[in-house]
Amino acid sequence: MRTGPWSRKVTLPNDMRWIIRTIQFFLCSALLLGAVFSYASVTLKISTSNPSSFEAREMPLKSYLPKGIRLEDVIDAGDLEVSYDDDRQQCYVHKSLTLDSKASVTYDVEIEDIWLIERDELDELENTADSLANELRDTQYSEIVLQIQKNIREKIDDIQSRQEEAMIFKVGPTEHIAVYDTNRAAIAVIQGNINDLNRLLSVVKEEKGTKGGFDQERATKLMEAQQVKKQILNFGDPDTETSCLVKESLRIERENINFDPQETVLMKIEFANPSATKSRTAPLRYFLAKEVDASDIIDPEDLNVGFDFEKSLYYVYNDSVVLEPGETKEFEVTLNNKWAIDKSKLYGLKVYLEGLTRAAEESIGLGAAQKFGKETLGDIYDLLRQSGPDELTEGYVTSYRDDLLKVESVRQAVQKMEDLLVDGKLSPEMTVMEQERRCLDADVKEKKPKDIVGFAGIIESLRSNLLAGTIFKGKNLSSVNTWKIIYYIIIFLGVISGVFYFVNIRQQKSTMFDSLTGAFSRGYALERFREELKIAKGGDNKCSLLVMDIDKFKSINDTHGHTVGDTTLKEFVIAIRKGVRATDLIGRFGGDEFMIILPTLEKDKALKIAEGISRIVEGTAIKINPKLMFNITTSLGVATFPDDSATAEDLFDKADQALYQVKKRGGNGAEPFGGNV
Ligand code: GH3
Ligand code: MG
Repeated sequence: MRTGPWSRKVTLPNDMRWIIRTIQFFLCSALLLGAVFSYASVTLKISTSNPSSFEAREMPLKSYLPKGIRLEDVIDAGDLEVSYDDDRQQCYVHKSLTLDSKASVTYDVEIEDIWLIERDELDELENTADSLANELRDTQYSEIVLQIQKNIREKIDDIQSRQEEAMIFKVGPTEHIAVYDTNRAAIAVIQGNINDLNRLLSVVKEEKGTKGGFDQERATKLMEAQQVKKQILNFGDPDTETSCLVKESLRIERENINFDPQETVLMKIEFANPSATKSRTAPLRYFLAKEVDASDIIDPEDLNVGFDFEKSLYYVYNDSVVLEPGETKEFEVTLNNKWAIDKSKLYGLKVYLEGLTRAAEESIGLGAAQKFGKETLGDIYDLLRQSGPDELTEGYVTSYRDDLLKVESVRQAVQKMEDLLVDGKLSPEMTVMEQERRCLDADVKEKKPKDIVGFAGIIESLRSNLLAGTIFKGKNLSSVNTWKIIYYIIIFLGVISGVFYFVNIRQQKSTMFDSLTGAFSRGYALERFREELKIAKGGDNKCSLLVMDIDKFKSINDTHGHTVGDTTLKEFVIAIRKGVRATDLIGRFGGDEFMIILPTLEKDKALKIAEGISRIVEGTAIKINPKLMFNITTSLGVATFPDDSATAEDLFDKADQALYQVKKRGGNGAEPFGGNV
């Protein structure tokens, strides 16, 4: 009995007479497709028979050939005609037949073995790699090029020997096709290597062409930029070091995303005998999804594994399952989890696109690119937040296939974003490399041991003290000994400052940011606000403060739970970032209360920004998952230095009072302290 790939419940017909008729019909129209194999060709055995004991019957024969077989791949169809079905995009053989009672007939159809990789294809790959390597021989990349070339040759040799050992007449169709799949995957890797060589060559050529000579420095920069891009996009690859931009981004997002999907999934197949009185012995055959290769079937338990040539699908089967009256047997098949999108790769795309979007933000005239980048980032976040299946269901496979299309469109969007930047006279890779550098610089600066204990001053005073003999009183130190002692003390202080450094940096990291939303922490934001006020005072400038609170946030926690509340807070911060300038600073004051410092901004302009944020928040749907989406609103109060007060605490208080006025009117809006200006 055959079932479709996802009709998982298999039930025997109830009525006995109906069963007999069904079997008769099945046999009348059944064409048995067997296969005999020889070197480089496969002979399919196509049989049909007339089960009637009483009469001759017309038995039109029609049988589809394996998917992928073209008309020219049919070597010999004997007496059968070969045609092509446009709808199914598949060849079939057919013939009008009349068979005597109980008569049967078998036809041989010889087809090409299409599960072989031609030597020509491998030769072409090798030649392409060789000629690229040749062109790159005298450049500074010759060493890496030789390594790539060697890898490609080794992979080609592996493909050949694997194929040789798994010829169809040696190992049978299932393993033969499994090895073909493996070899195709290896070819995809080789093609990736060739693309690397091509990229290298285009860098070298670009330099030679534009400068009328080879500008080694620029070529190295371009190469480096390509490397940074690759490093970001290959996040998750164990051989690739994680880029600084990815690390920074992960610090904020990691807890929201599950990067490690389950390795395996369980698929359950039920086989039932509906008869309450009779036991049954029946064949079970269950087709697996098209994503499944032979190597993905980890444990078929009591079932065997086969490959259907006609459908190009693997299946699990048992030719005679014995079922007691009313019994339902459940078979479990453990499969490799192929139904989880590669979130690491997607995360790499996200970080790269964030870099491109930031570059667009920092340039004039790239507003459209910036908008496009942000929209695409929204799509990526949606995909990243999904979780994988515990048990494989039809619905899950469908949504996984949809997700794959979405990932593909994200990939295309990233390419389009690169094009938009190129149109704006920016090199996408270079801009991202520049950001990676800034990230690394910031990291290094942050990690530089600070002069926490006044290191330089102490050394200086120790040195003069030693020379003055005040520490080693009564001892007459030679200058060599003096310098030795200074040297030891320097090392000692180095160790101390190292210890201080670790304590300091760790504390600084944990206190600087709010771990949930990535906004600055309350303490840090207040400290910065004080500093900004000092700067404003010194420069005779203004400085505004927004204090904001989400409206009716408690009801989100109460209705959907705390986790949804948390996601809302994160999305809220993402939304408000759209409404502020790069120099403005967002801090979380606690709960659903946030503050934004707007350096140099007068009250009326700060109010405009506050109103803009209120509209952005109102118009941004908070997407928790595809089924849960809602809108929130926020209330904001504005206070400005020096108009409203000169101290940070007082300004905060005044902005809070203004916020309270908005809440009193029902929320969703902004107001300045002291009423509208
Ligand atoms: P209002 O319009 O007056 O602001 O009403 P509201 O419901 O938003 O009331 P309020 O601002 O007082 O509520 C803040 C709530 O935020 C109370 C607390 O349970 C919740 N909360 C505080 N911190 C967190 C957090 O980290 N995560 C989540 N999910 N909820 C938090
Ligand atoms: Mg609130």
